[in-house]
Amino acid sequence: MKMSSQLPIALKSYRWILIATPIILLIMVGGYLIWKSPPTQISSPFYVAPTPSKTENLAPFGRSPDWSKLDRFQNTISKETFLNRLEVIYTKDSSWKKWIIIDEGENRAIIGNYQLVFSHQDNPAPGSLFNWKTRADLSADRALPLEDLVIAIDPGHIGGDFAAIEEREHNHDDITIREGTMTLKTAFILKPLLEKLGASAILVRSKLEPVTKNRAQDFSDPKLFYRTSEIRARANLINQTIKPDFVICLHFNGTASKNRTQDQHFHIILNGTYTKDELAHEDER
Ligand SMILES: [Zn+2]
Repeated sequence: MKMSSQLPIALKSYRWILIATPIILLIMVGGYLIWKSPPTQISSPFYVAPTPSKTENLAPFGRSPDWSKLDRFQNTISKETFLNRLEVIYTKDSSWKKWIIIDEGENRAIIGNYQLVFSHQDNPAPGSLFNWKTRADLSADRALPLEDLVIAIDPGHIGGDFAAIEEREHNHDDITIREGTMTLKTAFILKPLLEKLGASAILVRSKLEPVTKNRAQDFSDPKLFYRTSEIRARANLINQTIKPDFVICLHFNGTASKNRTQDQHFHIILNGTYTKDELAHEDER
């Protein structure tokens, strides 16, 4: 295969695991680039309001969101459109009803301590909270289709000396596989390919080191280091510094199995379909 002939020598030694399909998570922060208009029907127009939760519920190391940023959306969206998007795009079951109350009498949504007043009919949206490019902003130049698009490449995990503690190191015969090392090698291959298409591609990490300044010894549970603290540090770097239109998170299925397992596949994650736990956390919701 042409692609494998371009791989560095070190990566070739891992070719047996490359036989298994890598999982490449494309977290399309600018998901609306391909988003289609949702259907206008809603499934359940009548809601019984439960008691709203007053206490703040945050994920580990989460910061309290500034809900006032939503103020400019006051009186812009109708209840029907709000519910349609909530049920069709943003949630997958009725668990949102525990956190978001529809106040029929006052024509508003009560979300924790925040209230969003609905308009009687949809008004033009005041624009996204983020400055992402839309599909219309993409270049028409077929040779440079990604021109001016900022893409963050996040090589998943840490690799190197951290591979063991993050449980992404597997030994098989005389070969050691470190997922975080493989993702970084892949990122170095991917970056010039995207740049050739006109994109500005920025690596979230370019070493076999964490982005967070914390280390495992700072926490009672090492997961709080390599998962929680590290992922939050990467999210901050992406959202506050890189500010990309698009994020590509690279992962391989880091199992010790030589054979392809059923759950190895390519998938794309779009913003939406929040789980019960994500809805419960104010900073993730
Ligand atoms: Zn992974």
